[in-house]
Amino acid sequence: MSFTEEIKRRRTFGIISHPDAGKTTLTEKLLLFGGAIQEAGAVKNNKIKKGATSDFMEIERQRGISVATSVLAFNYKNKKINILDTPGHKDFAEDTFRTLTAVDSVIVVIDVAKGVEEQTEKLVEVCRMRNIPMIVFINKLDREGKDAFDLMDEVEKKLKLRVTPLSFPIGMGYDFQGIYNLWEKNINLFSGDSRKNIEDTIAFSDINNPELDKIVGEKAAIKLREELELIEEVYPPFSREEYLEGDLQPVFFGSALNNFGVRELLDCFIEIAPSPRPKHSDTRLVEPTEQKMSGFVFKIHANMDPKHRDRLAFIKIVSGTFERNKPYAHVRLNKNLKFSSPNAFFAEKKEIVDISYPGDIVGLHDTGNFKIGDTLTEGEEMNFKGIPSFSPEHFRYINNADPMKAKQLEKGIDQLMDEGVAQLFTLEMNNRKIIGTVGALQYEVIQYRLEHEYGAKCSYENFPAHKACWIKPLDPKSEEFAEFRRIKQKFLAHDKYGQLVFLADSEFTIQMTQSKFPNVKMFFTSEME
Ligand code: GDP
Repeated sequence: MSFTEEIKRRRTFGIISHPDAGKTTLTEKLLLFGGAIQEAGAVKNNKIKKGATSDFMEIERQRGISVATSVLAFNYKNKKINILDTPGHKDFAEDTFRTLTAVDSVIVVIDVAKGVEEQTEKLVEVCRMRNIPMIVFINKLDREGKDAFDLMDEVEKKLKLRVTPLSFPIGMGYDFQGIYNLWEKNINLFSGDSRKNIEDTIAFSDINNPELDKIVGEKAAIKLREELELIEEVYPPFSREEYLEGDLQPVFFGSALNNFGVRELLDCFIEIAPSPRPKHSDTRLVEPTEQKMSGFVFKIHANMDPKHRDRLAFIKIVSGTFERNKPYAHVRLNKNLKFSSPNAFFAEKKEIVDISYPGDIVGLHDTGNFKIGDTLTEGEEMNFKGIPSFSPEHFRYINNADPMKAKQLEKGIDQLMDEGVAQLFTLEMNNRKIIGTVGALQYEVIQYRLEHEYGAKCSYENFPAHKACWIKPLDPKSEEFAEFRRIKQKFLAHDKYGQLVFLADSEFTIQMTQSKFPNVKMFFTSEME
């Protein structure tokens, strides 16, 4: 297969949802179609369970699972599909945001009864801002839920999407009879027996065919015809261009648990979803078809063995081929690195590969060279954009609780921050360290890992900040900026790249500061855009 054919057949995507909507179940069913797993239950549920016996045990268990499910790859109908795992738990939202920088499209899973939930809103917003193509899958149709039209309204309003259904349910819950597939123009019947028979579809190019009445009953047939008419009047026709631009989101209905509507989703997905897309670096747009390799780190996972501090850095290949034992330039460190055992992922296993293509994720063993966002090239000096840090929501001083272990603590904090577990800010005034996180759970993770992996002890103390604002003065030499620095002295810090950050204690302070110092620009992500 040629290089361009290899690129064209790749589909790298993420599934996003609020916890419990059915992401894990859907992932598992998708893998079944690829023949990648044999039985149900193979995809471990990567979420923090409420009321687990011990939070630490749970965190460890979760870390073990999340390395296994970070990338799930399989072949289906000659397409190479890479699913990137995105934790649904809100305390790990940052991990999900970063993973979204490495996907070319997403599938959004929504629970038919619960509708659009909080976490879905946040994640979809990130995708919308980046114009990532999205397909919506409304799940659990075997249960009583909201009316299909009401749900699509809700999706449009709450998620600010423009949708068009490509499949439509016939009944729901107890009366659920099946799905009309507008994309393939056929009906897939849901019945006791056909739950398992995934091939059981009936072609229906003409919905007015009286056969329909016999199959689903007259009442349901009339209702379906009316609904399809309404769909045609109300919703825009599907356009792949609009979908790829992020301007139109097709909707599918089904039941992941019953493997119903999943094949339809997958078959449409492989047709319409984009192959690896070009990506902006700080100097230019990089096309996947370029011969020279380039890629970036979007995730770092510490090894499960606490005695060996090696880690796995996950790289998304943007262009060219990534080859084993070939030297690549680590742009930030300005040095060449070779990798003798790059890992590729297949289903839930990882194995060493000689060559990987754009769209693929490669896992590289790392002893501390990589930070999230690092770029690898064949020598070109450029850095991929789009891996910003978002402002944390919690801030605490971190103190050394064992004076004999100051070095270990420092090293531990440094490495955990490189992994992206949390963000470190150093106060300008006194060099005290502040850890910022998205969820309170991260503080436990950090404390536990510092102790078990680095032999260091820490304690926390509240720091009264509400948001981190990255600061860029229009004129660094101005009086105004000097005055800003003087007044806000106590709240100024540096992030791990040395950028100036103002740790504001409230929205009100942010507004006041903005109006008082209009030429000192504030940004709420580290990319300052
Ligand atoms: P995740 O948190 O989004 O990964 O959700 P899971 O895949 O773990 O599913 C959450 C719960 O919903 C589990 O108990 C599943 O068995 C159940 N579930 C998933 N899909 C369906 C479905 O189509 N119908 C029904 N009735 N339950 C489902």
